[in-house]
Amino acid sequence: MPAHILVTGSTRGIGAAIVPALEAKGAKVVGHGRGDGAGVIGADLSQAGAADGLWDRALEALNGRIDVLVNNAGVFEGVDVAAPADEWQTAWGRTIQINLQASADLCRRAILHFRERGGGGRIINIASRAAYRGDSPAHWHYAASKAGMVGMTKSIARGYAREEILGFAVCPGFVMTGMADDYLASRGGDKLLADIPLGRVAAPDEIASIAAYLALEAPASMTGAVLDANGASFVR
Ligand code: NAD
Repeated sequence: MPAHILVTGSTRGIGAAIVPALEAKGAKVVGHGRGDGAGVIGADLSQAGAADGLWDRALEALNGRIDVLVNNAGVFEGVDVAAPADEWQTAWGRTIQINLQASADLCRRAILHFRERGGGGRIINIASRAAYRGDSPAHWHYAASKAGMVGMTKSIARGYAREEILGFAVCPGFVMTGMADDYLASRGGDKLLADIPLGRVAAPDEIASIAAYLALEAPASMTGAVLDANGASFVR
């Protein structure tokens, strides 16, 4: 029986690479983006409650059974420390809502579903190197959201392992998900390469192969693991 998997944020970047990596291993995958599309359920995760609606629709699309949740959707939006307080708080609220709260809401639904049907399940959270290393002065909230994801993943792994519910996190460093020039400019220009011993940023396929391994092959004893993929730019 193929594994049934929901991947959030599958319309581009890392998520768009995760879907074929899972399908190549025989999984049946439902994707997600901001709007509806082919094989993609639309849900704007900046809106409270949208994650619950997404879970319900994904469950329906996968005939009432989901075995694996991959929380990949996320935003990397800067806000200056000197921004007006209302702008600052709006930016924090939006990043935490999309990157952490919506992921938590989906983890909750996944765990309740895994329990109800029995037999366990897996959750893979795509966090970031920023969870451990921190990020730029304009991205405290991004780093905090990803550190939250790591803490959430570890709690899930420890809390539900007896029920065969496994939790993993992936912490990529820079991953080239857009046009190279735009991508590099958004992350600080050529200087970022000097900080990566491997000499290049990661490719989405590399992160996808880690996610597919965790979703379908990783031994249960690995639950709670946080896997780095950053070209040795942050070794811990
Ligand atoms: P991307 O911007 O290319 O794609 C993001 C995906 O999330 C898209 O499918 C988009 O539709 C979805 N999304 C964003 N906001 C949404 C919203 N409000 N509602 C619904 N969907 C929404 O991003 P990416 O670079 O592929 O990143 C994927 C994940 O990997 C993110 O969680 C990101 O934080 C993480 N990550 C990326 C990098 C990197 O350098 N690219 C590094 C570390 C971690």
